[in-house]
Amino acid sequence: MSKVKTAIVVGGGIAGPVTAMALRRAGITATVHEAYPGSTDGIGGTLALAPNGVAALRHVGADEAVAAIATPIHQTVMLVWTRRIEMPGLTDAPPLRVVHRAALHRILHDRAVADGVPFAYGKRLVGARETADGVTASFADGSTAHADVLIGADGVHSTVRRLIDPAAPGPRYTGMLGFEALARHEVDVEPGTMTFAFGRNAYYLFWREPGGGTRWGANLPRDRPMSFTEAREVPREQWLRTLRTAYGDDEPGRDLADTSDVESVRSVGALHIMPPVPHWWRGRMVLVGDSAHAPSNSSGQGASLAIESAVQVARCLRDLPDVPSAFAAFERLRRARVERIAARAARINNAKAPGPVARTLMPIMMPLLVRTAMKPEKTLGPEQRYVIDWDAAAR
Ligand SMILES: Cc1cc2nc3c(=O)[nH]c(=O)nc-3n(C[C@H](O)[C@H](O)[C@H](O)COP(=O)(O)OP(=O)(O)OC[C@H]3O[C@@H](n4cnc5c(N)ncnc54)[C@H](O)[C@@H]3O)c2cc1C
Repeated sequence: MSKVKTAIVVGGGIAGPVTAMALRRAGITATVHEAYPGSTDGIGGTLALAPNGVAALRHVGADEAVAAIATPIHQTVMLVWTRRIEMPGLTDAPPLRVVHRAALHRILHDRAVADGVPFAYGKRLVGARETADGVTASFADGSTAHADVLIGADGVHSTVRRLIDPAAPGPRYTGMLGFEALARHEVDVEPGTMTFAFGRNAYYLFWREPGGGTRWGANLPRDRPMSFTEAREVPREQWLRTLRTAYGDDEPGRDLADTSDVESVRSVGALHIMPPVPHWWRGRMVLVGDSAHAPSNSSGQGASLAIESAVQVARCLRDLPDVPSAFAAFERLRRARVERIAARAARINNAKAPGPVARTLMPIMMPLLVRTAMKPEKTLGPEQRYVIDWDAAAR
């Protein structure tokens, strides 16, 4: 049983509220400190939640509320130019779920508040100092906070990561910008089908929106990265014109771009991937979620892994006798799993932005790859069937 009683959680995105709720269930009082002046409601596009992510949400009582607002995906299809390939899936597994990030964030935030978790907004962490009895965090507004431990759930551009290790690597740009839009065009696929489409110029994915129309995401190759803020400063009309040019030679890409209303176009900014982070913790500070492991959007596992880590760090702090052994146990539980998933996502990323030769060979290579390399129980089984045993003592 740990002596830890209080925690500062830095970041109120997805991992932050889950960490704070799980900590409360472990008998630890946590306050969430978020840099934004208010909740990030209304910002962002769609996230995928894999069955393992929804299973992890059960430990903070949020699984049913999230499942109720999500769109279930029962079947995945690959479209290479015009060639359609049904992807083998797991048998007897719950569906993948797509959910608006803002709606997921709202549920987690509200549930955490109902649990009694305090949120402090406008608190951008800038420093942290260990003392004899804990850690003191300092914020850009000049204020400080003190607790037994500090947990960095501050996303892919994490400050806590640099405080733990000033030489820590930063996120790597995948060479693609992310977009999302809602098209009036109705694609001719079964509801609950997600199509991953390799177009002639760029990758995209789409699924039928339950309320009508087709929701689609685009990954546009671009040499230079663009921050979320920079991408949002470009007028939506301009992005829509770019999307119409990029997908003009594709079916149904062209129809999706042509029938998307400008108001529905959202830019997510540069897509990043985190290389392995050598140090996940130091002293009384530890990382969870994208700050430690952002496996790129190709994995469909980013948010799910963040939620799993949030639950596991609380379990370790509950069961191990002191902070270093709790954080070491947490890393032992998590590192191999998240790095394996990140490596699989990196391979998919390479296929999304291929060079000219690979692009020409794609229609021949992809179906072959799916048939030979795609053994769902072997690749997806360990990812999606993972369930945390909250009641078992962490070691
Ligand atoms: C506004 C926003 C929109 C997003 N939209 C999408 C999307 O459309 N699709 C998608 O796949 N992923 C999106 N993501 C990323 C996605 O939420 C994460 O990949 C994933 O869910 C893991 O969550 P996380 O909590 O680790 O990180 P995040 O969700 O990124 O949360 C990190 C939080 O930490 C806060 N923070 C950062 N630095 C500090 C600091 N120094 N002090 C205090 N707080 C700090 C951030 O403001 C943020 O709220 C978005 C993230 C954000 C912040």
